[in-house]
Amino acid sequence: MTQSVAELRTVVSGAVYAPQDEGYDAARRLWNAEHVREPALIAQVRSAADVQAAVRYAVAEGLEIAVRCGGHNMAGLASVDGGLMIDLSRMNQVTVDPEARRARVGGGALLRDLDAATQQHGLAVPAGMVSHTGVGGLTLGGGMGWLSRMHGLSIDNLESVQIVTADGSILRASTDENADLFWAVRGGGGNFGVVTEFEFRLHQAGPIVNYGIAFWGQDQGAEVLRNAREVIPALPREVNVVIVCLNAPPAPFVPAEQRFKPGYALVAVGFGPAEQHAAAMDRLRGTLPPAFEFISPMPYVAVQQLLDEANAAGRYHYEKGTYLETLTDPVIDVLTTQMAQKTSPMSIALMYRLDHGYLETPDDATAFGGRRTPRYAMFTMATTPGLDGLDAERAWVRRLWDALQPHAISIGSYVNGIAEPDEARLRASYGPKYDRLVETKRKYDPDNVFHRNQNIKP
Ligand code: FAD
Repeated sequence: MTQSVAELRTVVSGAVYAPQDEGYDAARRLWNAEHVREPALIAQVRSAADVQAAVRYAVAEGLEIAVRCGGHNMAGLASVDGGLMIDLSRMNQVTVDPEARRARVGGGALLRDLDAATQQHGLAVPAGMVSHTGVGGLTLGGGMGWLSRMHGLSIDNLESVQIVTADGSILRASTDENADLFWAVRGGGGNFGVVTEFEFRLHQAGPIVNYGIAFWGQDQGAEVLRNAREVIPALPREVNVVIVCLNAPPAPFVPAEQRFKPGYALVAVGFGPAEQHAAAMDRLRGTLPPAFEFISPMPYVAVQQLLDEANAAGRYHYEKGTYLETLTDPVIDVLTTQMAQKTSPMSIALMYRLDHGYLETPDDATAFGGRRTPRYAMFTMATTPGLDGLDAERAWVRRLWDALQPHAISIGSYVNGIAEPDEARLRASYGPKYDRLVETKRKYDPDNVFHRNQNIKP
């Protein structure tokens, strides 16, 4: 191996770490502290040519490949014991053409890199809500965030990708070129190669948007959720609302006596005028005075970073997601019963509303795992500061998921929220698109070189 490590170092311009090297430990760390992996090598690639060399090297040496962007995959799939981790984090350059409203984004960029560069021009692309998440994993699974109600998923705004496939080819894929591959990478995850560049269409957004959060205690959950059920779908598309079941954070705008109390928050981000946002907050409040609320204009980039600290790396997590058509009374019963049973104050459940912009891309235009009908993408995430208590919280997430199943759209979910390999759930998520994904996988990666992902078996 020593000789071949030297060989990899000669063909990759970025740093290559072996376990004994300084820097190896920092480079192998993942967001979810539960997964500590020991790759034989980590290649911090800097270009498509580096990725090409790394892929060819791993295939020749019979090394398993893992691809890391933001490292947020819940199951730690971005690394691999004994294999080669292709670490894209140095490929985080973002160049913006404000006239054409396009951004070229390195395959290892984080959302904060994307937001910082695009917001300089008052532009943005729909992406997630935590700025240290990777553009790579998020986009390839779909990508949903505050702008999705206006402009759809991240993949709905993707113009093209540059991708290194399993045989080491560097290809461009768009609707005009390698269209089958372009279809597959828009939702099919990391199955088809290493994306070295994403080209996004941009939209005007911000730089100042309207933020609002209203929080109610646990005993008011059912009323809050019933009101949200009526109000959220009827709000204008400029106002996006996420329902969060959580313990109130120790944020400056949270009164001291409310901090850490369990309850329900409606969090709204408005891209329209302040009056529209205020009216939306009134409707979300309904006749129920919240325990506290905070409404303020805020830079879009600040909104994108508000949840960063609450989701800091180095804690222990488990997650299970589902799709719900609406918040029926039985769904609300399950949620309010189960939320009272979590044991870690850090664990949460979130519901993202998917409608308007999400519905404007035809179902079969992308490989996205989820039909284009109005729905909530729900994520239930266990979080503990150490390993202690994680098993109990994992069991709680599973109980909640099981109890919701009779009311869910299917056993499928947003594939980026599947924390453990589960072929049945993956098939249910993709539905009839699954077979087309298999066909595309057979063409571009017949030997399943890229399998540390939500794997589509060739
Ligand atoms: P990584 O672990 O680095 O990558 C995940 C997988 O993606 C890898 O195993 C690899 O297969 C593949 N991959 C990554 N980059 C590339 C690339 N360039 N080329 C080929 N394959 C690649 N999702 C949302 O849609 N909206 C949200 O608001 C949101 N918020 C989140 C907040 C937190 C704190 C977390 C942990 C997750 C969140 N997610 C959200 C889910 C998120 O989309 C997934 O966890 C996603 O996989 C993260 O991507 P990453 O690049 O950070 O992860």
